Amino acid sequence: MTNIAFEPNDEADDRLVEPDIQAEEAQFETTLRPERLADFVGQEPIKRPLSISIEAALKRKEPLEHVLLYGNPGLGKTTLAHIIAREMGGTIRVTAGPALERVGDLAAILTNLKAGDILFIDEIHRLNKTIEEVLYSAMEDFALDIILGKGPAARTLRMPLERFTLIGATTKLNLLSAPLRDRFGHVYHLSFYEIDDIERIVRRNAALLEIAVDTESAALIAARSRRTPRVANRLLKRVRDYAQVKHNGILNAEITRQALDMLRVDHQGLDEVDRKILLAIIDKFQGGPVGLSTLAAAVAEEIETIEQIYEPYLLQLGLIERTPRGRKATRAAYEHLGRATGGQAELM
Ligand code: ADP
Repeated sequence: MTNIAFEPNDEADDRLVEPDIQAEEAQFETTLRPERLADFVGQEPIKRPLSISIEAALKRKEPLEHVLLYGNPGLGKTTLAHIIAREMGGTIRVTAGPALERVGDLAAILTNLKAGDILFIDEIHRLNKTIEEVLYSAMEDFALDIILGKGPAARTLRMPLERFTLIGATTKLNLLSAPLRDRFGHVYHLSFYEIDDIERIVRRNAALLEIAVDTESAALIAARSRRTPRVANRLLKRVRDYAQVKHNGILNAEITRQALDMLRVDHQGLDEVDRKILLAIIDKFQGGPVGLSTLAAAVAEEIETIEQIYEPYLLQLGLIERTPRGRKATRAAYEHLGRATGGQAELM
């Protein structure tokens, strides 16, 4: 088979709905990243307090208090960090929890920050303990405590740092230690977007990419994007490719529908793995409850993948339910899959 681009079994590469960034996407995402808070669509409960805090900090000529952003991948944490840096007029330095291996790595970054700069640490829940402890005094006192020597002769050298703002991002707030969490002045949760907001993002990005998209096509893409901007951008790009090959680049509702069907993303944004998960709960475990590890084994996926990528959206749609004894398929799941409601489990 030569045409592998849309091969449905083409594993990871074809995980259209996977909200984590894929290697070749970085450039594309940078192009589409809104630069000002006013262009950041949706997330009103965050935007309003954030813009007030930014304005107040600018008036006081002080850096913004440290900000913690948490929420699923692809919802805009990195974008927001860049926006904050721009609004504050500081330079942003980007790193990630797993990239900071030694205290020296962090010390080098911290001592190079200028007043008002932003340090963005993605996946901050994956910092190692020693680094995390160095961060405490950096965040609280703007000082770097370095221990010289060992044993009774050891002494601490304190180096002053410029007043910077740390922005931490995490998908797993519960893995963050309390002392670290408490050092953030602002903690914001990014939730799944309203469909209208995703539609606006699709239209905005189509314009940036010079794709003529009508209202209906934008709505179709938005509906299948798992309420996640990254997935919406990805679908838009794939639909554009399809239109280019099949329809001289012209994108209308019919072509969009064809493209989305071919990508096997259904009208609620579910892909084959989502459906496999629901079907497993319904058919193999009589609707549940089933434990996460058993479920993962049944669908041949990693526990983490299910927990972080698939489950949050299925929960959001109300297709599964989390109970103390495991995951259960809801009535809506049976309906979505066209199954008679009330599997055996419901009758027991
Ligand atoms: P995260 O860091 O949470 O994984 P990103 O900030 O990298 O997510 O966002 C992924 C992409 O989605 C970005 O390139 C950007 O184009 C788009 N995006 C995210 N949030 C918004 C938004 N509110 N408005 C417009 N585009 C957005």
